[in-house]
Amino acid sequence: MTADNEKCVLVVGGGIGGISAALEVAEAGHRAVIVEKTPSLGGRVAGMHKYFPKLCPPTCGLEINYRRLKANPRVEVLVDAELAKLEGGPGDYTATVRVRPRMVNDKCTACNDCVAVCPVERPNVHNYGLDNTKAVYLPQRLAYPMKYAIDTSVCPGTSCAKCVDACKPGAIDLGMKEQTRTIRASAIVWATGWKPYDASRIQNLGFGRIKNVVTNVMFERMAATDGPTGGKIRRPSDGKEPKRVVFVQCAGSRDEEHLPYCSAVCCTASLKQVCYVREAYPDSKVEVFYIDLRVSGTNEDFLRRVQADSSVAFNKGKVGQILENPQTGDLTVVAEDVEGCTVKHVEADLVVLATGLVPEARDIDVPSQLVRDEYGFAAGDGAKAVDVAGCAKAPADVVTSVRAATAAGIRGIQLGARR
Ligand SMILES: Cc1cc2nc3c(=O)[nH]c(=O)nc-3n(C[C@H](O)[C@H](O)[C@H](O)COP(=O)(O)OP(=O)(O)OC[C@H]3O[C@@H](n4cnc5c(N)ncnc54)[C@H](O)[C@@H]3O)c2cc1C
Repeated sequence: MTADNEKCVLVVGGGIGGISAALEVAEAGHRAVIVEKTPSLGGRVAGMHKYFPKLCPPTCGLEINYRRLKANPRVEVLVDAELAKLEGGPGDYTATVRVRPRMVNDKCTACNDCVAVCPVERPNVHNYGLDNTKAVYLPQRLAYPMKYAIDTSVCPGTSCAKCVDACKPGAIDLGMKEQTRTIRASAIVWATGWKPYDASRIQNLGFGRIKNVVTNVMFERMAATDGPTGGKIRRPSDGKEPKRVVFVQCAGSRDEEHLPYCSAVCCTASLKQVCYVREAYPDSKVEVFYIDLRVSGTNEDFLRRVQADSSVAFNKGKVGQILENPQTGDLTVVAEDVEGCTVKHVEADLVVLATGLVPEARDIDVPSQLVRDEYGFAAGDGAKAVDVAGCAKAPADVVTSVRAATAAGIRGIQLGARR
């Protein structure tokens, strides 16, 4: 166990929110520690193909932030790590952090030799299970830190050890043990973000049962050049080019049975994904079913641009059912058409469900100092010593998440200075 005596601002969650908060703290001359539970920083935006509204690649912004992190010795990054305990109070917390054994050390050069010999496959979490990785894998193309990890839940360990023999730099250590760190912090920034709503719970929409019904996060990976198909949008059942695509908005959102709230970003995210289809297949037809189109600010210009495309139809109405032709894999979307006062049947190759954002903090043990609302979004504490940034607080786009993170980082510095 190691103890760190210089107090820091402890940032829980290493997505764009957590990274931004830590950088603000460090670039103002203070110490920050990021605790990230997965093997790489980046959070959900690392899985995006493009960012709305400019449709630029998120990797660009992430790379800039990673360069800032590398250049700043005042930020320490702990991946594979989770907060186990938080004691103390504003200005003087003691955090116990558990760091899981990655089985790969800093000698890793990301050469991929270990992958070639590994005999075990597992679902690729980064691609939402659309393909597999080996048990030893690079978490994502732009991983930070840039080193492989071993999934110990499937790796046979020393009884196999083929990767150990293949690794020329000697980076694989199957004897690594869990470590515990004790960290003193003046303030905490909670930035644990979001996860997608479990679409298989929306039974009428067939996700999990019908292969060509996918979610919006899966569709990001289907379009991404580092995704399972190298950026070629193909439907999962047979690899066919989907030329008739239906987007179902509010899939489970604003629904008392599922997520009663609006996830704020799904409408604009679908507009972006409509563009992916139209760019990939100029002869495609797209239909969007919505309850309300909720886009704001400059995103309204984006909506108008997409609406001007005569191959994209917007229908006000809820989708009641998705039917599959088991022989062809083709789909029929049955939906109300509120404006035409009728029921529509739309033939489709692929359906994309715009599922909402669930706060990660809903389902994990959070420190007692952190207040949560009825949906599990974190509200911080009254003293702002445990502050909240990004989508841990509420569904938000990247700009809003970064803004909240910057504010939380600065409040963390102020709190440290006052004590
Ligand atoms: C389909 C879709 C497309 C989108 N496209 C865009 C877009 O184009 N432009 C845009 O501006 N926004 C977009 N968004 C919104 C964007 O994803 C969020 O704004 C962004 O992810 C918020 O970042 P964050 O850091 O708050 O959360 P996250 O990205 O979720 O990061 C949170 C981090 O915390 C980590 N974590 C979770 N729990 C723990 C724990 N217990 N301990 C330690 N670490 C933990 C996670 O592993 C993760 O790394 C989109 C959203 C969706 C659903």
